[in-house]
Amino acid sequence: MSDDKVSIKDLLGLSDEDVAKPLPIPTDWSQPFWEGTKQHKLLMKKCANCGNIDHPPYLFCTDCMAEEHEWIEASGKGTLYSYAINSFGVPFPFWDDMPYVLAIIDLDEGPRVISNIVECDLERLENGMRLQVVFDDVTPEVTLPKWKPAG
Ligand SMILES: [Zn+2]
Repeated sequence: MSDDKVSIKDLLGLSDEDVAKPLPIPTDWSQPFWEGTKQHKLLMKKCANCGNIDHPPYLFCTDCMAEEHEWIEASGKGTLYSYAINSFGVPFPFWDDMPYVLAIIDLDEGPRVISNIVECDLERLENGMRLQVVFDDVTPEVTLPKWKPAG
C-alpha cells in the first residue's frame, strides 16, 4: 500500500460503523479457543473418548457424540490447501486491505480452517506450502489466528 492511497472511508464518506470489521462472538463452547488466542496459543477441542479434534469446537464430539473433552495446544503448523487473492469487490471493511489472501489451511492436527495468509509475497503463494500461525491482536479483547510461511 502506498502512502498516498486514499482510504475507502474518505473516498466514499463512510462512517466508522461502515468500515468496522466483524469480530467473532464467542459461544460458551468456543470461549476457551478465543481465550487461547488472546494468549497467543492455538487451542483445539479434543474428544476424551475417541481422540477426535473438532474445529470449530462443538458442544459434543462430531465423531462419537461424547461431551467429555480436553483442550490441547496445537503445534501452530499447517499446509496451504487452497487460496484466493481478494483484489476487488469485497465489503467496505476489507477494502483497504486489498489485495489480501483468504486461505484454507490443513492443520497438522487434522482440522481444516479458513483464515488469512499474511507476511507473504503474493508470488510465493503455492498450494502445499508449509505455514505457521501468527496472532493478530485486532482489539484488546479479540485476537485472530492468521498464517504466514513457515521458517
Ligand atoms: Zn469422540
